[in-house]
Amino acid sequence: MNILNFINGKFVNPINNEWLDNYNPASGEVYSQIPNSSKEDVENAYIAAKSAFPAWSQTTLEERSRIMLKISELIEANLQRLAEAESKDNGKPLWLAKAIDIPRASSNFRFFANAITQFASESHESVGQNAINYTLRQSIGVVGCISPWNLPLYLFSWKIAPAIAAGNCVVAKPSEVTPMTAYLLGEICNDAGLPKGVLNIVHGLGGSTGQAIVEHPDIKAISFTGGTTTGAHIASVAAPMFKKLSLELGGKNPNIIFADCDYEDMLTTTVRSSFANQGQICLCGSRVFVEASIYEKFKKDFVEKVKALKVGNPSEAETKVGALVSKPHLEKVKDYINIAKEENGIVLCGGNEVKVNGYENGYYLEPTIIEVPNDECRVNQEEIFGPVVTIMPFNTEEEVLKMANKVKYGLSATLWTNDLKRTMRMSNQLQVGIVWVNTWLMRDLRTPFGGVKNSGVGREGGFEALRFFTEPKNICIKY
Ligand code: NAD
Repeated sequence: MNILNFINGKFVNPINNEWLDNYNPASGEVYSQIPNSSKEDVENAYIAAKSAFPAWSQTTLEERSRIMLKISELIEANLQRLAEAESKDNGKPLWLAKAIDIPRASSNFRFFANAITQFASESHESVGQNAINYTLRQSIGVVGCISPWNLPLYLFSWKIAPAIAAGNCVVAKPSEVTPMTAYLLGEICNDAGLPKGVLNIVHGLGGSTGQAIVEHPDIKAISFTGGTTTGAHIASVAAPMFKKLSLELGGKNPNIIFADCDYEDMLTTTVRSSFANQGQICLCGSRVFVEASIYEKFKKDFVEKVKALKVGNPSEAETKVGALVSKPHLEKVKDYINIAKEENGIVLCGGNEVKVNGYENGYYLEPTIIEVPNDECRVNQEEIFGPVVTIMPFNTEEEVLKMANKVKYGLSATLWTNDLKRTMRMSNQLQVGIVWVNTWLMRDLRTPFGGVKNSGVGREGGFEALRFFTEPKNICIKY
């Protein structure tokens, strides 16, 4: 099945008729082709979005909200089909796509359909000056949304939903590695009655199709989620045009475990925060720091639990760890395991490719725990973004705080303790955008999401996303 661009409500071939192979990571086979779109396709998408903007930005909130709720409903109604497509494209377990990814994509549309009806302009009287001052939140126009491969429809919709809720029209590009559910979303938007041109989806490579979106002089805002290097490049292209930018980038998140935590809860959650989605979540706790007094016990229990995780075909219910997203990514993760060994890291479990019966050419890797000799080694500093975590002990709160903050990233941190004062001290000092205490990845869509340092600029979620996708205009009237 070939994937097509979605422009002005129609599915169309790329103008240059160039195509890219799309792989199933579970089997290593090519199973579809996607457009290798050029600047001209992006221009057509822009023209469609620009034409749709005057009417869409003037649509009543009630009507916008109604259409978005319909999109949400149709995503839910297509749960099985979308989850199968996501799992096949990405290699993630089918049960995970069904339980998390697709329901969350539906929630994204539902949440912003409701949030926009609560997002009001502000006004205040200028006391003693006979004046009233109010601030409008106006739609920007045509905006660009570019998303990565790890949570394909989940993150694609996390950008598109607030963008269209706020009255913008969109030129969007999903990752070229996982284009399928974005393609299916086009069909759903048509069925839901989204006016043509409000959402346009152009498929292709980052350096050409993605870059053409960022370089387009009239696409005034770019919401990007992906790697830190790509984010820096996008910022350098966009800055001279003074584009509004939201950048959600890489992470190297600490998971800090104190001896006074609820041990069993911590252990179960730590397995999940380390290896969920094959460790390919920007929020995974890839650096595990454990208080010295429980280090040996934790090490033994953690290794035992991780060894028991079944690596296998993503469509099987008992599979806990599916396939990595692509061959180059598998090679990158394997390289890091070799780097760890060269740096005197000890592989406590995993480290090897897995040949899954009947799927010998798939991209499978054992979940891997590396005991590192110090916090400064490369595997402890650089984002691996695969089923690999490092562990090491610490003695004091000051020591672990210093190590936790000594990376260029600052997305999230997890803290396991029952000491309230310590919780407050550490949460205040961790250099991250999100702190979870005694839990992981508990999300409330109203709260700001994003990182500091090289993990990004700006915040998504709730009103933060609606603020990003609108321009404030202050009006002052003297009477
Ligand atoms: P990537 O940066 O390679 O690609 C992301 C998207 O950007 C893709 O659609 C790609 O085609 C496009 N792109 C690449 N070069 C471009 C360019 N020059 N101009 C415009 N677009 C371009 O990232 P990836 O490998 O797809 O995703 C993994 C990365 O994403 C990891 O670093 C991970 O931490 C990060 N991530 C961050 C978050 C977050 O919320 N902070 C969430 C998920 C993933």
